[in-house]
Amino acid sequence: MTVSVRFFNSGYCRQGNAMSGGKGWKWRRYYAVFLLVSHPVKGSFLVDTGYSQDFFDATRWGMGLLSRWMLPATLDQHHDAAGVLRSCGVDPETVRSIFITHFHADHISGLKRFPNARFIARRSAWSHLASLSAWRKSQELFFPALMPIDFEQRADWVEETDFTVSSSILPGFRSFDFWGDGSMFLVDLPGHAIGQYGLFFPGVSRPMLYLVDAAWNLEAMRLGRMIPSALMFLQHDAKAYRETWAKLRSLQAEDRIDMVACHCRETQARVENRGANDVD
Ligand SMILES: [Zn+2]
Repeated sequence: MTVSVRFFNSGYCRQGNAMSGGKGWKWRRYYAVFLLVSHPVKGSFLVDTGYSQDFFDATRWGMGLLSRWMLPATLDQHHDAAGVLRSCGVDPETVRSIFITHFHADHISGLKRFPNARFIARRSAWSHLASLSAWRKSQELFFPALMPIDFEQRADWVEETDFTVSSSILPGFRSFDFWGDGSMFLVDLPGHAIGQYGLFFPGVSRPMLYLVDAAWNLEAMRLGRMIPSALMFLQHDAKAYRETWAKLRSLQAEDRIDMVACHCRETQARVENRGANDVD
């Protein structure tokens, strides 16, 4: 069974190149990419949603305001993931479920634009976040106002026991054959955010790993340049982040898998709604 994967973005934030392990502090754009995964039997699914106006409404004070000051964001001209899909000829009503790779604001701000979709999320990540104080939630760049009020009723949970270590599918990583047909695996990518997972597609033209935010800059990864230590506080678990990054770098060096990161500039070449004047 083979799925198709399409790439879109809902806007971008700006930050210095060194933020992602690049050289120098020249400001550049970090696009908030989301995916449309179409399964021939199961239907259409989103992977995250990127920004929407809700992001600005939910980050007007405290840590939210600070994060906006550090990472100034701009919406796509079509406002949010639903608008972007419409502009590309995709009816947002056809989206059956949304995979939430992690609960950072730049990945979940469009959830409310899909009132009929279900959500595929890691139960342990949600439980962990729910147990935190408001301040600690905001330190994890999670703002509950971004969540649909009926999120838990619409959630289809991924359990920790769903993940196993396979000798054939990305050895060294815990993965989960989501549909049980080998077309797409969720991949545990600890460190960046509570419970982050990526997605591995073995059957597209070349096997592809969408590693979400486990790295922001794949060129820097090739050069062995991790983000500066001073910025490691942005990661949920710095030790786990470094371990995951090192494992991904080994995989990258093998050059047998197409690796794609959400905010990496290389990903823009795949994005359908990128503008002719988009620069970074
Ligand atoms: Zn993130």
